Amino acid sequence: MRTQVVIIGSGPSGLLLGQLLANSGIDTVILERVDRDYVLGRVRAGVLEQGMVDLLDEAGCGARMHAEGLPHDGISLAFDSRLHRIDLAGLTGGKRVMVYGQTEVTHDLMDKREAAGLTTVYDAKNVLPQGFDTDTPFVTYEKDGVTHRIGCDFIAGCDGFHGVSRKSAPAGAIKTYERAYPFGWLGILAEVPPADHELIYANHPRGFALCSMRSAHRSRYYVQCPLDDKVEDWSDDRFWDELRRRLPPVAAERVVTGASFEKSIAPLRSFVAEPMRFGRMFLVGDAAHIVPPTGAKGLNLAASDVRYLYWGLREFYQERSTAGVDAYSARALSRVWKAVRFSWWMTTMLHRFPDTDDFGQRIQEAELDYLVHSEAASAALAENYVGLPY
Ligand SMILES: Cc1cc2nc3c(=O)[nH]c(=O)nc-3n(C[C@H](O)[C@H](O)[C@H](O)COP(=O)(O)OP(=O)(O)OC[C@H]3O[C@@H](n4cnc5c(N)ncnc54)[C@H](O)[C@@H]3O)c2cc1C
Repeated sequence: MRTQVVIIGSGPSGLLLGQLLANSGIDTVILERVDRDYVLGRVRAGVLEQGMVDLLDEAGCGARMHAEGLPHDGISLAFDSRLHRIDLAGLTGGKRVMVYGQTEVTHDLMDKREAAGLTTVYDAKNVLPQGFDTDTPFVTYEKDGVTHRIGCDFIAGCDGFHGVSRKSAPAGAIKTYERAYPFGWLGILAEVPPADHELIYANHPRGFALCSMRSAHRSRYYVQCPLDDKVEDWSDDRFWDELRRRLPPVAAERVVTGASFEKSIAPLRSFVAEPMRFGRMFLVGDAAHIVPPTGAKGLNLAASDVRYLYWGLREFYQERSTAGVDAYSARALSRVWKAVRFSWWMTTMLHRFPDTDDFGQRIQEAELDYLVHSEAASAALAENYVGLPY
Protein backbone atom coordinates (compact mmCIF):
# COMPACT_ATOMS: atom_id res chain seq x y z
CA MET A 1 0.00 0.00 0.00
CA ARG A 2 1.16 3.57 -0.68
CA THR A 3 -0.02 7.05 0.25
CA GLN A 4 1.50 10.53 0.30
CA VAL A 5 1.47 11.19 4.06
CA VAL A 6 1.08 8.58 6.80
CA ILE A 7 -0.31 10.19 9.95
CA ILE A 8 0.32 8.31 13.20
CA GLY A 9 -2.43 9.11 15.75
CA SER A 10 -6.06 10.20 15.37
CA GLY A 11 -6.17 12.82 18.11
CA PRO A 12 -6.97 16.40 17.16
CA SER A 13 -3.52 16.94 15.52
CA GLY A 14 -3.74 13.94 13.22
CA LEU A 15 -7.38 14.43 12.27
CA LEU A 16 -7.05 18.17 11.60
CA LEU A 17 -3.88 17.70 9.53
CA GLY A 18 -5.55 14.88 7.60
CA GLN A 19 -8.58 17.00 6.77
CA LEU A 20 -6.63 20.09 5.69
CA LEU A 21 -4.39 17.94 3.46
CA ALA A 22 -7.39 16.11 2.00
CA ASN A 23 -9.00 19.44 1.13
CA SER A 24 -5.81 20.24 -0.85
CA GLY A 25 -5.95 16.92 -2.68
CA ILE A 26 -3.16 15.26 -0.67
CA ASP A 27 -3.67 11.59 0.27
CA THR A 28 -3.27 10.43 3.84
CA VAL A 29 -3.74 7.28 5.89
CA ILE A 30 -4.21 7.64 9.65
CA LEU A 31 -2.99 4.81 11.91
CA GLU A 32 -4.50 4.83 15.41
CA ARG A 33 -3.48 2.49 18.23
CA VAL A 34 -6.87 2.31 19.97
CA ASP A 35 -10.49 2.24 18.77
CA ARG A 36 -12.68 5.20 17.82
CA ASP A 37 -14.79 5.17 21.00
CA TYR A 38 -11.71 5.14 23.20
CA VAL A 39 -10.38 8.24 21.43
CA LEU A 40 -13.75 9.96 21.83
CA GLY A 41 -14.01 9.00 25.50
CA ARG A 42 -11.02 11.12 26.56
CA VAL A 43 -12.09 14.32 28.33
CA ARG A 44 -9.42 16.97 27.87
CA ALA A 45 -9.16 20.57 26.66
CA GLY A 46 -11.99 22.98 26.01
CA VAL A 47 -10.77 26.51 25.17
CA LEU A 48 -9.99 27.23 21.50
CA GLU A 49 -7.99 30.21 20.29
CA GLN A 50 -9.30 32.21 17.33
CA GLY A 51 -6.56 30.68 15.15
CA MET A 52 -7.79 27.17 15.89
CA VAL A 53 -11.40 28.19 15.25
CA ASP A 54 -10.31 29.57 11.86
CA LEU A 55 -8.43 26.34 11.06
CA LEU A 56 -11.47 24.21 11.88
CA ASP A 57 -13.49 26.44 9.58
CA GLU A 58 -10.85 26.07 6.86
CA ALA A 59 -11.04 22.30 7.30
CA GLY A 60 -14.83 22.51 6.82
CA CYS A 61 -15.49 21.27 10.36
CA GLY A 62 -16.66 24.40 12.16
CA ALA A 63 -20.44 24.35 11.76
CA ARG A 64 -21.38 22.59 15.02
CA MET A 65 -18.72 24.53 16.93
CA HIS A 66 -20.30 27.82 15.86
CA ALA A 67 -23.79 26.53 16.69
CA GLU A 68 -23.00 25.00 20.09
CA GLY A 69 -19.71 26.57 21.26
CA LEU A 70 -19.58 29.50 23.65
CA PRO A 71 -17.55 32.53 22.48
CA HIS A 72 -15.90 34.25 25.46
CA ASP A 73 -14.71 37.87 25.54
CA GLY A 74 -13.03 37.72 28.94
CA ILE A 75 -11.80 35.73 31.92
CA SER A 76 -11.71 36.52 35.64
CA LEU A 77 -8.78 36.27 38.00
CA ALA A 78 -9.87 35.65 41.60
CA PHE A 79 -7.67 36.63 44.52
CA ASP A 80 -7.95 38.60 47.73
CA SER A 81 -11.65 37.55 47.96
CA ARG A 82 -12.58 39.41 44.77
CA LEU A 83 -13.07 38.79 41.06
CA HIS A 84 -11.08 40.88 38.58
CA ARG A 85 -12.15 40.65 34.95
CA ILE A 86 -9.64 40.69 32.10
CA ASP A 87 -11.39 42.06 29.01
CA LEU A 88 -9.73 39.86 26.39
CA ALA A 89 -11.64 41.35 23.46
CA GLY A 90 -11.21 44.95 24.58
CA LEU A 91 -7.47 44.51 25.11
CA THR A 92 -6.76 42.67 21.83
CA GLY A 93 -8.82 44.60 19.29
CA GLY A 94 -11.77 42.21 19.41
CA LYS A 95 -10.13 38.77 19.64
CA ARG A 96 -11.95 36.13 21.71
CA VAL A 97 -11.75 32.45 22.55
CA MET A 98 -14.31 29.69 21.95
CA VAL A 99 -15.32 27.22 24.65
CA TYR A 100 -15.93 23.93 22.80
CA GLY A 101 -14.74 20.58 24.15
CA GLN A 102 -11.86 18.65 22.59
CA THR A 103 -14.15 15.62 22.45
CA GLU A 104 -16.55 17.57 20.24
CA VAL A 105 -13.72 18.83 18.01
CA THR A 106 -12.51 15.23 17.61
CA HIS A 107 -16.06 14.04 16.87
CA ASP A 108 -16.57 16.66 14.16
CA LEU A 109 -13.22 15.85 12.52
CA MET A 110 -13.87 12.08 12.63
CA ASP A 111 -17.34 12.52 11.12
CA LYS A 112 -15.93 14.65 8.29
CA ARG A 113 -13.17 12.13 7.59
CA GLU A 114 -15.63 9.24 7.50
CA ALA A 115 -18.06 11.13 5.26
CA ALA A 116 -15.22 11.86 2.83
CA GLY A 117 -14.30 8.16 2.74
CA LEU A 118 -10.74 8.79 3.95
CA THR A 119 -8.79 5.88 5.46
CA THR A 120 -8.25 5.57 9.20
CA VAL A 121 -7.01 2.26 10.59
CA TYR A 122 -8.09 1.91 14.22
CA ASP A 123 -6.59 -0.71 16.54
CA ALA A 124 -3.32 -0.59 14.58
CA LYS A 125 -0.73 -2.29 16.79
CA ASN A 126 3.07 -1.98 16.83
CA VAL A 127 3.07 1.03 14.50
CA LEU A 128 6.67 1.79 13.49
CA PRO A 129 7.89 4.73 11.37
CA GLN A 130 10.94 3.68 9.35
CA GLY A 131 13.33 4.92 6.66
CA PHE A 132 12.55 8.56 7.35
CA ASP A 133 16.21 9.46 6.87
CA THR A 134 15.79 8.41 3.21
CA ASP A 135 13.50 9.59 0.37
CA THR A 136 11.44 6.41 0.70
CA PRO A 137 10.04 6.30 4.24
CA PHE A 138 7.47 3.69 5.24
CA VAL A 139 5.40 2.69 8.24
CA THR A 140 4.64 -0.83 9.39
CA TYR A 141 1.81 -1.92 11.70
CA GLU A 142 -0.09 -5.00 12.74
CA LYS A 143 -3.82 -5.46 12.44
CA ASP A 144 -5.64 -8.66 13.38
CA GLY A 145 -2.31 -10.48 13.56
CA VAL A 146 -1.22 -9.46 10.02
CA THR A 147 1.74 -7.10 9.41
CA HIS A 148 1.16 -4.29 6.89
CA ARG A 149 3.55 -1.83 5.25
CA ILE A 150 2.63 1.61 3.86
CA GLY A 151 5.14 3.45 1.68
CA CYS A 152 4.86 7.25 1.70
CA ASP A 153 6.59 10.59 1.06
CA PHE A 154 6.28 11.86 4.64
CA ILE A 155 5.34 10.66 8.13
CA ALA A 156 3.49 12.94 10.55
CA GLY A 157 3.96 11.83 14.17
CA CYS A 158 0.71 13.04 15.74
CA ASP A 159 0.72 10.31 18.38
CA GLY A 160 0.83 12.28 21.62
CA PHE A 161 3.33 12.30 24.45
CA HIS A 162 3.49 8.49 24.83
CA GLY A 163 3.57 7.77 21.09
CA VAL A 164 6.17 5.93 19.05
CA SER A 165 7.28 8.73 16.70
CA ARG A 166 9.42 10.77 19.10
CA LYS A 167 10.90 7.54 20.50
CA SER A 168 11.92 6.53 16.95
CA ALA A 169 14.08 9.65 16.45
CA PRO A 170 17.81 8.90 16.74
CA ALA A 171 18.85 9.50 20.36
CA GLY A 172 21.75 11.76 19.40
CA ALA A 173 19.56 13.98 17.22
CA ILE A 174 16.96 14.98 19.82
CA LYS A 175 17.17 17.21 22.89
CA THR A 176 14.41 17.44 25.47
CA TYR A 177 13.58 20.10 28.06
CA GLU A 178 11.35 19.32 31.02
CA ARG A 179 9.84 20.78 34.17
CA ALA A 180 7.54 18.73 36.40
CA TYR A 181 5.34 20.68 38.83
CA PRO A 182 4.92 19.45 42.42
CA PHE A 183 1.11 19.19 42.34
CA GLY A 184 -1.75 17.93 40.21
CA TRP A 185 -5.19 19.07 39.12
CA LEU A 186 -8.24 17.21 40.35
CA GLY A 187 -10.94 17.83 37.75
CA ILE A 188 -14.63 16.99 37.63
CA LEU A 189 -17.38 17.24 35.05
CA ALA A 190 -20.93 17.75 36.31
CA GLU A 191 -24.23 18.38 34.60
CA VAL A 192 -24.80 21.72 36.38
CA PRO A 193 -24.78 25.32 35.09
CA PRO A 194 -21.38 27.05 35.49
CA ALA A 195 -20.73 29.49 38.36
CA ASP A 196 -20.03 32.25 35.86
CA HIS A 197 -20.48 32.73 32.12
CA GLU A 198 -16.67 33.14 31.79
CA LEU A 199 -13.72 31.17 33.22
CA ILE A 200 -12.48 32.01 36.74
CA TYR A 201 -8.80 31.36 37.62
CA ALA A 202 -8.42 31.52 41.42
CA ASN A 203 -5.27 32.04 43.47
CA HIS A 204 -5.92 31.15 47.10
CA PRO A 205 -3.70 30.26 50.06
CA ARG A 206 -5.34 26.78 50.01
CA GLY A 207 -4.32 26.33 46.36
CA PHE A 208 -5.40 27.08 42.81
CA ALA A 209 -8.94 26.53 41.50
CA LEU A 210 -10.47 26.89 38.04
CA CYS A 211 -14.13 27.28 37.13
CA SER A 212 -14.63 26.28 33.51
CA MET A 213 -17.44 24.79 31.47
CA ARG A 214 -18.30 22.77 28.38
CA SER A 215 -21.76 24.27 27.81
CA ALA A 216 -24.40 26.35 29.57
CA HIS A 217 -25.46 23.18 31.43
CA ARG A 218 -22.16 21.32 31.89
CA SER A 219 -19.41 22.56 34.22
CA ARG A 220 -15.74 21.61 34.38
CA TYR A 221 -14.09 22.48 37.71
CA TYR A 222 -10.55 21.89 38.98
CA VAL A 223 -8.72 22.24 42.28
CA GLN A 224 -4.97 21.95 42.79
CA CYS A 225 -4.17 18.81 44.82
CA PRO A 226 -1.10 16.90 46.04
CA LEU A 227 0.35 14.56 43.42
CA ASP A 228 -0.12 11.51 45.61
CA ASP A 229 -3.85 12.12 46.21
CA LYS A 230 -6.18 9.46 44.83
CA VAL A 231 -9.49 10.15 43.14
CA GLU A 232 -11.13 7.87 45.76
CA ASP A 233 -9.97 10.35 48.45
CA TRP A 234 -12.23 12.96 46.93
CA SER A 235 -15.97 12.49 47.37
CA ASP A 236 -18.11 14.96 45.42
CA ASP A 237 -19.01 16.72 48.68
CA ARG A 238 -15.36 17.15 49.61
CA PHE A 239 -14.62 18.53 46.14
CA TRP A 240 -17.46 21.07 46.18
CA ASP A 241 -16.54 22.25 49.69
CA GLU A 242 -12.89 22.72 48.72
CA LEU A 243 -13.75 24.51 45.49
CA ARG A 244 -16.04 26.98 47.26
CA ARG A 245 -13.44 27.72 49.95
CA ARG A 246 -10.96 28.76 47.25
CA LEU A 247 -13.36 31.12 45.46
CA PRO A 248 -14.39 34.68 46.43
CA PRO A 249 -17.81 34.69 48.16
CA VAL A 250 -19.51 36.26 45.13
CA ALA A 251 -18.46 33.27 43.00
CA ALA A 252 -18.71 30.57 45.69
CA GLU A 253 -22.37 31.31 46.30
CA ARG A 254 -23.11 30.84 42.58
CA VAL A 255 -21.59 27.34 42.42
CA VAL A 256 -24.36 24.86 41.67
CA THR A 257 -23.39 21.42 42.96
CA GLY A 258 -24.42 18.02 41.64
CA ALA A 259 -23.13 14.51 41.04
CA SER A 260 -19.93 14.39 39.02
CA PHE A 261 -19.81 12.01 36.05
CA GLU A 262 -16.07 12.28 35.45
CA LYS A 263 -13.36 12.79 38.04
CA SER A 264 -9.62 12.50 37.45
CA ILE A 265 -6.25 13.75 38.65
CA ALA A 266 -3.73 15.00 36.07
CA PRO A 267 -0.06 15.79 36.77
CA LEU A 268 1.29 19.09 35.41
CA ARG A 269 4.36 19.18 33.23
CA SER A 270 6.22 21.36 30.71
CA PHE A 271 8.10 19.40 28.04
CA VAL A 272 9.64 20.29 24.69
CA ALA A 273 11.53 18.07 22.24
CA GLU A 274 13.80 19.71 19.67
CA PRO A 275 13.87 19.57 16.70
CA MET A 276 10.39 18.67 15.45
CA ARG A 277 11.63 17.22 12.16
CA PHE A 278 13.84 14.21 11.50
CA GLY A 279 14.35 13.82 7.77
CA ARG A 280 10.92 12.96 6.37
CA MET A 281 9.23 12.54 9.76
CA PHE A 282 7.65 15.44 11.66
CA LEU A 283 6.52 15.62 15.28
CA VAL A 284 3.21 17.42 15.78
CA GLY A 285 1.29 18.45 18.93
CA ASP A 286 1.76 16.52 22.17
CA ALA A 287 4.27 14.22 20.47
CA ALA A 288 6.70 17.15 20.64
CA HIS A 289 5.54 19.22 23.60
CA ILE A 290 3.37 19.31 26.71
CA VAL A 291 2.26 22.35 28.70
CA PRO A 292 0.40 22.54 32.01
CA PRO A 293 -3.26 23.31 31.23
CA THR A 294 -3.23 26.60 33.16
CA GLY A 295 -2.84 28.70 30.01
CA ALA A 296 -5.30 26.58 27.93
CA LYS A 297 -2.58 26.08 25.31
CA GLY A 298 -2.02 22.31 24.73
CA LEU A 299 -4.68 21.75 22.10
CA ASN A 300 -4.09 25.16 20.55
CA LEU A 301 -0.38 24.47 20.13
CA ALA A 302 -1.25 21.22 18.39
CA ALA A 303 -3.36 23.29 15.97
CA SER A 304 -0.57 25.77 15.25
CA ASP A 305 1.88 22.93 14.52
CA VAL A 306 -0.70 21.49 12.13
CA ARG A 307 -1.02 24.85 10.42
CA TYR A 308 2.73 25.17 9.80
CA LEU A 309 3.08 21.57 8.59
CA TYR A 310 0.01 21.79 6.36
CA TRP A 311 1.40 24.94 4.74
CA GLY A 312 4.77 23.23 4.21
CA LEU A 313 3.31 20.04 2.72
CA ARG A 314 0.91 21.95 0.48
CA GLU A 315 3.83 24.01 -0.82
CA PHE A 316 5.79 20.79 -1.43
CA TYR A 317 3.04 19.15 -3.48
CA GLN A 318 1.67 22.20 -5.28
CA GLU A 319 4.87 24.17 -5.92
CA ARG A 320 7.55 21.43 -5.59
CA SER A 321 9.24 23.63 -2.97
CA THR A 322 10.75 22.26 0.25
CA ALA A 323 10.98 25.72 1.84
CA GLY A 324 7.93 25.21 4.07
CA VAL A 325 8.81 21.73 5.29
CA ASP A 326 12.41 22.84 5.84
CA ALA A 327 11.18 25.76 7.99
CA TYR A 328 8.58 23.70 9.90
CA SER A 329 10.57 22.86 13.01
CA ALA A 330 11.97 26.36 13.58
CA ARG A 331 8.59 28.04 12.93
CA ALA A 332 6.67 25.69 15.19
CA LEU A 333 9.22 25.81 18.01
CA SER A 334 9.30 29.59 18.04
CA ARG A 335 5.59 29.65 18.85
CA VAL A 336 5.78 26.59 21.10
CA TRP A 337 8.34 28.18 23.42
CA LYS A 338 6.24 31.33 23.79
CA ALA A 339 3.26 29.21 24.85
CA VAL A 340 5.48 27.15 27.15
CA ARG A 341 6.63 30.37 28.79
CA PHE A 342 3.06 31.69 29.13
CA SER A 343 1.75 28.41 30.61
CA TRP A 344 4.70 28.23 33.05
CA TRP A 345 4.11 31.85 34.08
CA MET A 346 0.36 31.37 34.65
CA THR A 347 1.08 28.19 36.62
CA THR A 348 3.74 29.88 38.77
CA MET A 349 1.57 32.90 39.49
CA LEU A 350 -1.62 31.03 40.35
CA HIS A 351 -0.56 27.92 42.29
CA ARG A 352 0.53 27.33 45.84
CA PHE A 353 3.95 25.59 45.66
CA PRO A 354 5.11 23.41 48.58
CA ASP A 355 7.76 26.02 49.38
CA THR A 356 5.40 29.01 49.02
CA ASP A 357 5.56 30.76 52.37
CA ASP A 358 3.69 33.90 53.41
CA PHE A 359 6.27 36.03 51.58
CA GLY A 360 5.75 34.02 48.42
CA GLN A 361 1.99 34.37 48.74
CA ARG A 362 2.28 38.17 49.08
CA ILE A 363 4.53 38.31 45.98
CA GLN A 364 1.91 36.39 44.01
CA GLU A 365 -0.81 38.74 45.23
CA ALA A 366 1.31 41.78 44.31
CA GLU A 367 1.88 40.39 40.83
CA LEU A 368 -1.84 39.71 40.39
CA ASP A 369 -2.73 43.18 41.71
CA TYR A 370 -0.30 44.75 39.24
CA LEU A 371 -1.65 42.57 36.46
CA VAL A 372 -5.26 43.63 36.88
CA HIS A 373 -4.52 47.32 37.45
CA SER A 374 -1.95 47.88 34.70
CA GLU A 375 -3.44 48.01 31.21
CA ALA A 376 -0.07 47.06 29.72
CA ALA A 377 0.20 43.96 31.93
CA SER A 378 -3.44 42.97 31.33
CA ALA A 379 -2.92 43.40 27.58
CA ALA A 380 0.13 41.10 27.64
CA LEU A 381 -1.91 38.39 29.37
CA ALA A 382 -4.83 38.89 26.97
CA GLU A 383 -2.61 38.77 23.87
CA ASN A 384 -1.15 35.43 24.93
CA TYR A 385 -4.45 33.97 26.16
CA VAL A 386 -6.31 34.58 22.88
CA GLY A 387 -3.28 33.19 21.03
CA LEU A 388 -0.23 34.75 19.42
CA PRO A 389 -0.50 35.14 15.64
CA TYR A 390 0.70 32.25 13.46
C1 LIG B 1 -5.82 14.66 31.11
C2 LIG B 1 -5.52 15.78 30.16
C3 LIG B 1 -6.16 17.00 30.31
C4 LIG B 1 -5.89 18.06 29.44
N1 LIG B 1 -6.51 19.25 29.63
C5 LIG B 1 -6.22 20.27 28.79
C6 LIG B 1 -6.82 21.53 28.95
O1 LIG B 1 -7.62 21.75 29.86
N2 LIG B 1 -6.50 22.52 28.09
C7 LIG B 1 -5.60 22.32 27.05
O2 LIG B 1 -5.36 23.24 26.24
N3 LIG B 1 -5.03 21.13 26.87
C8 LIG B 1 -5.31 20.11 27.72
N4 LIG B 1 -4.73 18.92 27.53
C9 LIG B 1 -3.82 18.78 26.40
C10 LIG B 1 -4.56 18.48 25.10
O3 LIG B 1 -5.58 17.56 25.35
C11 LIG B 1 -3.53 17.98 24.13
O4 LIG B 1 -2.61 19.02 23.90
C12 LIG B 1 -4.12 17.49 22.81
O5 LIG B 1 -4.86 16.32 23.00
C13 LIG B 1 -3.00 17.23 21.82
O6 LIG B 1 -3.52 16.58 20.69
P1 LIG B 1 -2.64 15.55 19.89
O7 LIG B 1 -3.50 15.12 18.76
O8 LIG B 1 -1.32 16.15 19.58
O9 LIG B 1 -2.35 14.35 20.90
P2 LIG B 1 -3.37 13.30 21.54
O10 LIG B 1 -4.69 13.93 21.79
O11 LIG B 1 -2.66 12.69 22.67
O12 LIG B 1 -3.58 12.22 20.41
C14 LIG B 1 -2.58 11.28 20.08
C15 LIG B 1 -3.23 10.06 19.45
O13 LIG B 1 -2.22 9.16 19.05
C16 LIG B 1 -2.58 7.85 19.43
N5 LIG B 1 -1.36 7.05 19.60
C17 LIG B 1 -0.49 7.07 20.63
N6 LIG B 1 0.50 6.19 20.43
C18 LIG B 1 0.26 5.62 19.22
C19 LIG B 1 0.94 4.62 18.47
N7 LIG B 1 2.06 4.05 18.92
N8 LIG B 1 0.42 4.25 17.30
C20 LIG B 1 -0.72 4.83 16.83
N9 LIG B 1 -1.41 5.77 17.50
C21 LIG B 1 -0.92 6.16 18.70
C22 LIG B 1 -3.34 8.02 20.73
O14 LIG B 1 -4.18 6.93 21.01
C23 LIG B 1 -4.12 9.30 20.43
O15 LIG B 1 -5.36 9.05 19.84
C24 LIG B 1 -4.96 17.86 28.39
C25 LIG B 1 -4.34 16.64 28.22
C26 LIG B 1 -4.59 15.60 29.10
C27 LIG B 1 -3.87 14.28 28.91
